[in-house]
Amino acid sequence: MTDFKSVREQFPALNQTVYGQPLCYLDSAATALKPQAVIDRVNHFLSLEAANVHRGAHYLSDRATANYEAVREKFAEYLGAPSAGLIFTKGTTDSINLVAQSLAQGIFKVGDEILLTQLEHHSNIVPWHNLAMQRNGKVHFAKITASGQVDLEDFEKHLKTGRIRIAAFTACSNTLGIFTPVSQMIELCQRYGALSLVDGAQLMANERIHLTNLGCDFFAFSGHKIFAPYGIGVLYGRSEVLSRMPPATFGGSQISEVTEEKTTFLPPPQRFEPGTPNVEGVLGMGAALDFFQNIPLTDIQAHEKTLLKKLISLLAEFKNIETYGSLELPHAPIVSFNFKGVHASDVGFILDQQGIAVRCGHHCTQPLMRALGVPATVRASLSIYNNEQDLIQLQQGLEKAQELLFGNTNTVR
Ligand SMILES: *Cc1c(COP(=O)(O)O)cnc(C)c1O
Repeated sequence: MTDFKSVREQFPALNQTVYGQPLCYLDSAATALKPQAVIDRVNHFLSLEAANVHRGAHYLSDRATANYEAVREKFAEYLGAPSAGLIFTKGTTDSINLVAQSLAQGIFKVGDEILLTQLEHHSNIVPWHNLAMQRNGKVHFAKITASGQVDLEDFEKHLKTGRIRIAAFTACSNTLGIFTPVSQMIELCQRYGALSLVDGAQLMANERIHLTNLGCDFFAFSGHKIFAPYGIGVLYGRSEVLSRMPPATFGGSQISEVTEEKTTFLPPPQRFEPGTPNVEGVLGMGAALDFFQNIPLTDIQAHEKTLLKKLISLLAEFKNIETYGSLELPHAPIVSFNFKGVHASDVGFILDQQGIAVRCGHHCTQPLMRALGVPATVRASLSIYNNEQDLIQLQQGLEKAQELLFGNTNTVR
């Protein structure tokens, strides 16, 4: 069994106090902290290896190119995808925009329709609203059930019209921590001739996936949620689809030839990576994958499940707290809750004063908030570096919040 105490020690950020309290970081669904190995890799590149990639002819540039492409190979192997199908982007948002803006140039016909779900993050909604506006299309939302799961019947009902060109859906809700039935949703897309895009931003830290077997057309994720630096992420595209797609942004490094009249483009992935890329981001993300892969996934899942169960039961001790969505396992280590009748940001403020970092708000999921009938929630999310002490600190923080919000009137069950 992995020693999670020594895993935790690899995260320097946890070695600090906030308002005089030990930092209790329960916001990993927003961004994961960075292990020393990732920090060192970025530092090493910037200190000693900095050179542009793909523009070689000298030692440092050749080495930077080789190291950059080695990370693509590493992810290809990890994700079960051909490396030419993996495009480095700025992150999930950028990946989804790339797809939408490439489809806008022709594959998405005027009047075509888009299917999303009520669970989606704004980054998987706004690019589609924009595409629909550009191409006179329409965006539909598959409903969620009372437990917060995607209503598959409603999802299929939209596909049955035959007008959906692409369905884009999350594999795991960043607000509720609920895993969606992605395999079934992808199969439905295939049955009704729609392209499928999976938002994998919250899945990557919890599951290992095999993209070729999964069968989706696109898969997007961000490095910063899997212990990597900011401004780096991946778009996977199935080669049959990618090869038909034009680039959405333009510049150097993506071209096969430029004349005064016109430009011809390289095949994927270079076609979609114009300009100087985020080399230190890619190398840092490679180091993050090495770090993550060094710990058996079953150990990570067991560790997080133990903490998640404790989190769920400690919240249940507060009779003024309500949680949102099914908490049945398997469930990502993310829980949304509120003190009844109290705005989430008031709770967040009180917790923050005690060194506890949670996220309060709509979590970039306003349609979901509307479906749940609340303006905002408090969200606690866990990762490999959290421990039982964090949950004790949260429990004490919530007791304090309860006292301040409701008075000290024996409200604990
Ligand atoms: C974080 C997140 C995004 C957006 O990712 P960025 O890194 O901000 O581009 C999209 N979808 C889900 C489910 C997320 O959790």
